[in-house]
Amino acid sequence: MKVIVLGSGTGVPSLRRGSPAYWLGVDDRQYLIDCGSGTLLQLERIGASFRDLDGAFITHVHADHIGDLTPMVHAMRLPGLTREKPFTLHGPPGFTDFFNRIIAPVAAPPTRFPFLVQDAPLAWNMNGLTILSHPTPHSDRFASRAYRFEHQGRAIVFSGDTDWDDGLAGFLTGADLALLECSTLDDDKVEGHLTPGLCGRLAAMARVRRLLLTHFYPIDGPDSLFLDQCRAQFSGELGLAEDRLSVEIAP
Ligand SMILES: [Zn+2]
Ligand SMILES: [Zn+2]
Repeated sequence: MKVIVLGSGTGVPSLRRGSPAYWLGVDDRQYLIDCGSGTLLQLERIGASFRDLDGAFITHVHADHIGDLTPMVHAMRLPGLTREKPFTLHGPPGFTDFFNRIIAPVAAPPTRFPFLVQDAPLAWNMNGLTILSHPTPHSDRFASRAYRFEHQGRAIVFSGDTDWDDGLAGFLTGADLALLECSTLDDDKVEGHLTPGLCGRLAAMARVRRLLLTHFYPIDGPDSLFLDQCRAQFSGELGLAEDRLSVEIAP
């Protein structure tokens, strides 16, 4: 499995860190996790394209995570797109209704290939991939989900936006790679989000092999502060996500 970070930032416009989105490659299949503003162009920059995606997994519908979703659905209907394989769009509970009410009226779903929208179950199989979803405490206005992808004995977890949750440690257990949201430094914690120290504690409890912090709000000071605060809690392999960073997890 291979992950390429498309956006390591938030909703704050930044030339360095785009809005949340990740490309996930499994065998010859390609998926998106979240689709923040700028995702379509980032895909082109890494040599991928929305044209070839097999599906997308939306963690929640905050604008920074779905900014390019409506444009992507729109682009899938434009002339010149030749594809026959299905595209499956998953989101948290209520997502299908959200799609039908908010997105479909301004970006009619494509009809030239199967386009499916589903609320993610807690566990399912797709194209040889086992996918698990886990509720995260983030917003009291709508549901949010973390996703875990398992393939050939390896596991990658994307937290989406979340606050501390004991259950999340269980969901992360033994992951080869975890991308955890790390919105602010420990002293600036805001409700509904994690900090480097909390990410480190979760990863340590779950014995995660490799931890990649992501979803950074701009801070006063060097980004290495995120590493320092996380390192105090977690002794495994640790890094900060950067846009277009690529991580491969061998089978
Ligand atoms: Zn966010
Ligand atoms: Zn959010």
